[in-house]
Amino acid sequence: MPESLAGKQARARKIIPALKRAYPDAKVALDFETPLELLVATILAAQCTDERVNLVTPALFTKYRSARDWAAADQASLEREVHSTGFYRAKAKAIVGMARALVERHGGQVPRTREELTALPGVGLKTANVVLGNAFGQQAIAVDTHVFRVSQRLGLARSTDADEIHDQLAAVLPRRAWTLASHLLTTHGRRTCSARTPTCPACPVKALCPWPEKTRIR
Ligand code: SF4
Repeated sequence: MPESLAGKQARARKIIPALKRAYPDAKVALDFETPLELLVATILAAQCTDERVNLVTPALFTKYRSARDWAAADQASLEREVHSTGFYRAKAKAIVGMARALVERHGGQVPRTREELTALPGVGLKTANVVLGNAFGQQAIAVDTHVFRVSQRLGLARSTDADEIHDQLAAVLPRRAWTLASHLLTTHGRRTCSARTPTCPACPVKALCPWPEKTRIR
C-alpha cells in the first residue's frame, strides 16, 4: 500500500534532523554578496558545478555591478567570460535578457516574490527559489539534480518533472525548514547518496529510506 502523506511527513520530520546532524555545514555553495549576484550565479550553475561557477564569478562581479551593467553587456564579451561554465551562448543571452527585464520592470532591483522572479526571462522555479531562500531569507525549496534524485530515493516525492517534485516536497516538508531541507538533500546527494553508487551502508538516514536498490557492503 502506498505510504500516506501523513506517513511521509512523519518520516521527513525525522530525516531532516538526522541530515542536519550529519551535515552541519550544509549551505548554498555559490559565492555571492547581493541578490543580483546570486541570480546571475544560479543561471550560470545550470549544467555546471558550483565550484566552476565560483571560479568565474569574481571577475564578472567586479566588471558588472548593477542590473544596468549586465543589461548593457556586450553579448560576445559575456559569452567569452562565461564560456567555461558551458552553454555559454544561452547563458549570456539569459543573463542579459533577465537584467534588461530587471531594469525595465523593477528599477534594476531583484524582486522578492516567486511570481515576479519566474516572470523574468531565463528564470525558472529552481532559480527563483535559490534566490528567495538564500538572498532574501524566505522558505523555498530549490530542486536541483541532487534534490530531484535523493527525494525520490527517500520516497518523499515521485515524478519525472522537477516542478512536480517541488510541489510534492512542499506538501511533505515542514515549511519552516524548506530552505534548510534543500541544502541538506543537496549535500546528502553530493557526499553520500550519489547518482551511481550511493554509500548506503554509511548513510545517516538509511533506516528511514525505503529505496529497494540500496548499495550493500560487498
Ligand atoms: S540509504 Fe542509500 S539510497 Fe537511501 S538515502 Fe541513504 S544513500 Fe541514499
